[in-house]
Amino acid sequence: MGIAVVTGGTRGIGAAISIGLRDAGHTVAATFAGNVEKAEAFRAETGIAVYQWDVADAEACATGLAKVEAELGPVDILVNNAGITRDAMFHKLSFDAWKAVISTNLDSMFTMTKPVIEGMRARSFGRIVNISSINGQKGQMGQTNYSAAKAGVIGFTKALAQESAFKGITVNCICPGYIDTDMVAAVPEEVLKGIIKGIPVGRLGKAEEIAALTVYLASPAAGFMTGAVLTINGGQYIAN
Ligand code: NDP
Repeated sequence: MGIAVVTGGTRGIGAAISIGLRDAGHTVAATFAGNVEKAEAFRAETGIAVYQWDVADAEACATGLAKVEAELGPVDILVNNAGITRDAMFHKLSFDAWKAVISTNLDSMFTMTKPVIEGMRARSFGRIVNISSINGQKGQMGQTNYSAAKAGVIGFTKALAQESAFKGITVNCICPGYIDTDMVAAVPEEVLKGIIKGIPVGRLGKAEEIAALTVYLASPAAGFMTGAVLTINGGQYIAN
């Protein structure tokens, strides 16, 4: 079993992924941005190692990943999960909100993957799972920044998958629909009710449902699946 890094791995979807990978027998490093209290509680509860750095900062990622590799070993599995929203209609969207979302959600594909890809190539094995979104597939009103970043994640996944396939590295991307986490808790209740009406299964998704798919993609059994864009959204994408 391998060494796995999960960005934003201490809360929400990322926390479920960290736990799922640990339960599958991997050694997990869960990263976070600034919520130290939550990260410490997660570490105490799960025994999973936690590391703090900003995924938008290339130097911090290189230093942080070097520390993980020194402490745990070479990274075999990278889950690029950390993400934020800064919603506003485009005509009211500030350039700062645009840049914050692009750098955290899309630059992080570069900053986090770059330091580990050479090692994966040298060892002829790697599993990279990128968390995109249904809103990167269909676009979402009030989320030009987020939709652009998450669509970028899909393109990055498909291109890197082609470059890496022959080296035993798979690169796949998951597009969750609305999942019951802090991110969705920030959506106003009335808006959320309308969203749930548009989900054929009639409920929000669970973080564990995204984790189960990630654990499969990270497994040796998934070696023939690469460049895939996996939708997991309770049927919302096909119904709307
Ligand atoms: P949460 O807001 O619950 O958790 C986000 C996690 O990412 C936290 O651990 C946070 O750290 C970390 N993080 C945020 N910014 C940075 C940063 N700059 N550097 C390092 N870590 C950072 O998010 P979710 O679990 O809801 O979402 C996880 C991923 O899934 C995101 O990419 C999101 O876009 C995507 N997604 C979510 C959906 C949903 O419905 N929830 C739907 C579709 C996609 P800290 O705790 O320190 O703040």
